[in-house]
Amino acid sequence: MSRRIYVKDQAEIAKMRVAGRVNATALEEVKSIIRPGVTTAALDEVAYTVIGDHGGKPTFKGYPGPYPYPATLTVSVNREMVHGIPSGRVLKAGDIVSIDCGTTLDGFVGDSAFTIGVGEISKEAERLIRVTRESLAKGIAQMRQGHRLGDVSSAIQKHVEGHGYHVPRKYTGHGVGREMHEAPQVPNFGTPGTGPRLKKGMTIALEPMVLAGTPRTRVLADQWTVVSRDNSLTAHFEHTVAVTGDEPLILTRL
Ligand code: MG
Ligand code: MG
Repeated sequence: MSRRIYVKDQAEIAKMRVAGRVNATALEEVKSIIRPGVTTAALDEVAYTVIGDHGGKPTFKGYPGPYPYPATLTVSVNREMVHGIPSGRVLKAGDIVSIDCGTTLDGFVGDSAFTIGVGEISKEAERLIRVTRESLAKGIAQMRQGHRLGDVSSAIQKHVEGHGYHVPRKYTGHGVGREMHEAPQVPNFGTPGTGPRLKKGMTIALEPMVLAGTPRTRVLADQWTVVSRDNSLTAHFEHTVAVTGDEPLILTRL
């Protein structure tokens, strides 16, 4: 990955908004069919169809890794934090499921994720999801011209750890644009007042990943799926966000 942070002009941001909106449409469709009894592969099929119907390409499919990523979504259940591969696995009441999706359209990428409960879930699971969603909002609020990246990272960390949860050290947010992963890396932990200064036109995928037990993770034998080492619950929210001259602009919502 180049160390350079690509600043986008207005026309490029507009294209990213279109890709982001299609990505959001796919995620909404997926969300609408999540219930006990559905397979994670069925979710994947819906996302694939919606993205294609809008002229987009699933960014994740074929993404380089231990082997090319085989699906449109990553679907990560309970202890699975990120990069779970869709399969015949059936979701059941009480599970929490994290869905991550990328759409490439007209040369630009939108990248976004959410976690949701399947049927009735425990109070603890609900709290974990809420705190993770809130931590993304805290990070987004710092995405202002003149702030530093460390302000964003530390806002996320403070909210998560203030609720007794943990952020992973090895998995981060990232710049996004023509490529899904551009500079800079955006850890979910950091020190205020440090790191690159945010400039108008920077586009970043902020993605707090939160673990209920400890910050430690491991990768399953499929070489993609990342789980909490202690098998505790995990959650994940992500938006692609642009720094503007004014309010932060979320590119991956409807
Ligand atoms: Mg993502
Ligand atoms: Mg991402």
